[in-house]
Amino acid sequence: MAIWNLGSINADFVYRVPHIPAPGETLSSTGRQMFLGGKGTNMSVAAARAAARVNHIGAVGQDGRWAIQRLLEYGVDTRNIAVLDTETAQAIIMVDPAGENAIVLHPGANAEIPQVTLQAAMAEAETGDWLIIQNETNLQRTAAEMGKELGLQIAYAAAPFDADRVQAVLPSLDFLILNAVEAAQLEEAIGTAPADLPVRDVIVTRGADGADWYSAAGKQHFPAIKVDAVDTTGAGDTFTGYVLAGLDRGLPMEQAIGQATKAGALMVMRHGTADVIPDLSEVQDFHP
Ligand code: ADP
Repeated sequence: MAIWNLGSINADFVYRVPHIPAPGETLSSTGRQMFLGGKGTNMSVAAARAAARVNHIGAVGQDGRWAIQRLLEYGVDTRNIAVLDTETAQAIIMVDPAGENAIVLHPGANAEIPQVTLQAAMAEAETGDWLIIQNETNLQRTAAEMGKELGLQIAYAAAPFDADRVQAVLPSLDFLILNAVEAAQLEEAIGTAPADLPVRDVIVTRGADGADWYSAAGKQHFPAIKVDAVDTTGAGDTFTGYVLAGLDRGLPMEQAIGQATKAGALMVMRHGTADVIPDLSEVQDFHP
């Protein structure tokens, strides 16, 4: 089986600043780093590190070939990433000494993934494969409908949250994952609790409080592992990639969530995102 992930690819520029600049203020940064980022990228890398066959579907600009190269190095199939005459998506992230941040996101190529790129990928997909979508690209609804038609299992991470987008794809979903804030936003927007959504499997992640899995069998809680968290960015994306990779490799949901819980805990103990996602052997050897 394989995973197809229609997902964002970003260049994340992190600027250390003495404080978040006020309107009209010009400020020198005290340091700058560039990382491979984007929720889609994080999920593809996580699923590949969790030993799944992962095909990323997306787009970068001419300035984004390094990102494709990096995804390849992490074991992701990149044949369905288009290189367009536009800019690669960028996140300009300012972080102050207290860890507070302010972010400008330029969607660039993530919002212009060509339909032919999606179609070429779907032509190779097989019944039972997984298709992952999230909210940082165009074509989600088209992809969900096309994937459903082809007999793929459709997984959706409803982030960044957008009620209209959730409602548009809801009928096509087999798997929905939300964090606690997004689950509350969804319930507020459509008046349906996670347990009552018309989706086979729903997972709500609750940070240090673990995760809940809702299915026809009811609700099952999976506590988080107690660790010293230093940076929670990427924990949710890593968790999602690990759960879906586990299911794709044939694990029962309980075991897939068990590995994802360990991967999420390892992630919050380190700084960074895609570049520091643990691989399966590290997760299996983690006995807290
Ligand atoms: P998101 O990053 O999408 O907000 P969460 O913060 O809910 O996602 O984290 C996803 C999963 O990662 C949690 O369900 C949990 O298993 C793990 N995790 C997150 N934060 C912590 C933490 N502080 N300690 C241990 N595990 C954590």
